[in-house]
Amino acid sequence: MYQEPIAPRGEPSVVVIGAGVAGSWQALLFARAGYRVTLLERDTAEMTQATSHWAGGMLAPWCEAEAAEPLITHLGNRALDLWRTYLPETPFNGSLVVAHARDRADFERFARMTTDHRRLDAQGIAELEPALEGQFREGLFFAGEGHVEPRRVLPLLHEHLRASGGIIRFETECDLEILAQQPDRIVIDCRGLGARDQHPELRGVKGEMVIVETAEVELARPVRLIHPRWPIYVIPREDNLFMIGATSIEAEDTGVSVRSALELLSAAYTVHPAFGEARIVEIGAGLRPAFPDNLPRIVVSKQKISINGLYRHGFLLAPALAEMTLAYAQRGFMHNEVMRSA
Ligand SMILES: Cc1cc2nc3c(=O)[nH]c(=O)nc-3n(C[C@H](O)[C@H](O)[C@H](O)COP(=O)(O)OP(=O)(O)OC[C@H]3O[C@@H](n4cnc5c(N)ncnc54)[C@H](O)[C@@H]3O)c2cc1C
Repeated sequence: MYQEPIAPRGEPSVVVIGAGVAGSWQALLFARAGYRVTLLERDTAEMTQATSHWAGGMLAPWCEAEAAEPLITHLGNRALDLWRTYLPETPFNGSLVVAHARDRADFERFARMTTDHRRLDAQGIAELEPALEGQFREGLFFAGEGHVEPRRVLPLLHEHLRASGGIIRFETECDLEILAQQPDRIVIDCRGLGARDQHPELRGVKGEMVIVETAEVELARPVRLIHPRWPIYVIPREDNLFMIGATSIEAEDTGVSVRSALELLSAAYTVHPAFGEARIVEIGAGLRPAFPDNLPRIVVSKQKISINGLYRHGFLLAPALAEMTLAYAQRGFMHNEVMRSA
């Protein structure tokens, strides 16, 4: 579908509100396309209030197909190319999915629901991840997937934005309506759950996580454990850190329950017993911004564009959504499945 581009001439300025993963990618792609970009964020540069701060950072379009719509895999696949292009240092070591023998039925279901994986036996798992030798008899290897460390990649995206001529202002709370009243400017709203004034149907889906530190385990890629009650993943980070995540609870407080902490840690212990001796560094939770259909949405109007509802796929999808928004601003291109007019 085609609509009149909102910035047909010249070099308009773009104001992006919200420097989470959605806003950072929007700002970067518009800056690279030659727009004058300012990214405004109410939080400090540490971004601890952003959902993005709490994420695992998996770029896993094929694994996510187990529970998500085909659109997520499709957009995610395109986004992987953009991660590779704009941040070539992004690790693409694949994802490993494992299950204990008693959970074989769930493992087979996961295998059926997903594509682009290769089956591994115990030896194949040990070759890929020597630390897991003897722990699992079967695995699925999704070779094309990647992962980023959110707390490192956000500052990196901001650095790339500055290098492309963009400006970032932290500790700057914005009023969308006031900003959008000024002509010759595109306002891109990436406020996540902060955008409920525009999207009352947005909800937060709580994701609890634990970060542990141990030098006894070495992993090169995210490992997902299939489990009927506690499906978890363990993601290696720098400095011997591992993120263990994540719950998915329809609640909007950011407290972590004893039950969730026990389940996350117990499941990690069954991935590798050395996690039993690991040091707990942090326990926390973030709220995933989600629309009722759990799909991302770009809403366009005369002067503003809103990107939201990235749910559990913000890191995976943000580059593809930014590319779409840019195509709309430049050429009036509307992606029928994701974009709508206000
Ligand atoms: C535990 C957990 C694990 C996850 N794991 C993954 C994963 O492995 N892979 C993946 O792809 N996704 C994952 N996600 C999902 C991902 O984190 C979210 O989809 C994504 O962070 C949403 O990004 P966002 O930029 O829309 O929102 P946010 O990151 O919340 O950013 C919005 C920003 O807008 C700012 N803001 C709000 N109002 C204003 C205002 N008025 N003025 C200025 N600034 C404002 C906020 O301070 C905030 O920084 C996970 C989420 C959780 C909680």
